[in-house]
Amino acid sequence: MFSLDTGRLHAETYRFIEQVRNHYKISIDVLSPDKDALEKFVREKGLYSFYQDGHKECCGIRKVVPLRNKLATLDAWITGQRKDQSPGTRADVPVVEKDMAFSTADHVLIKFNPLSYWSSAQVWQYIRENDVPFNELHNRGFISIGCEPCTRPVLPNQHEREGRWWWEEATMKECGLHAGNLQQKAG
Ligand code: SF4
Repeated sequence: MFSLDTGRLHAETYRFIEQVRNHYKISIDVLSPDKDALEKFVREKGLYSFYQDGHKECCGIRKVVPLRNKLATLDAWITGQRKDQSPGTRADVPVVEKDMAFSTADHVLIKFNPLSYWSSAQVWQYIRENDVPFNELHNRGFISIGCEPCTRPVLPNQHEREGRWWWEEATMKECGLHAGNLQQKAG
């Protein structure tokens, strides 16, 4: 199991990672961005450039490169993506797919999305019935949770993805971890 530590997560999310580690008695690889690339980026553009020129560059350094390095060591990975999380980008997420974003000419990577057909309500039912730990931010109106500067709670009947990168267009709301979703939309 691994998690991406962008350095910009909520304190509640760090506590949640620790809660999962203790609850399931598992080790978790917490992956950090490349130090030199991150320091250069912050020196040149500061800590909030994504509000001006979009999230792609920051997500690239803090999430995509560490993930790519990790996935290069694996044949397959399992995600929690669901169709109902984002009508703009995830409506076509299959249960099993070739990962078009991270496969290379000599390395095929398979991506499993076992929750693809689950609704949010089903996930919450499972959590309650099985005493599954969850991020305490969900108790405060957050639904889709990412980095602290790029995540906010949503109002009743607002879609969960509206709390992410709210200053950008709905069809661009993927951070690069599931960039294949955007490629499928474009194609
Ligand atoms: S979600 Fe925001 S803070 Fe986090 S890596 Fe992407 S742009 Fe940077």
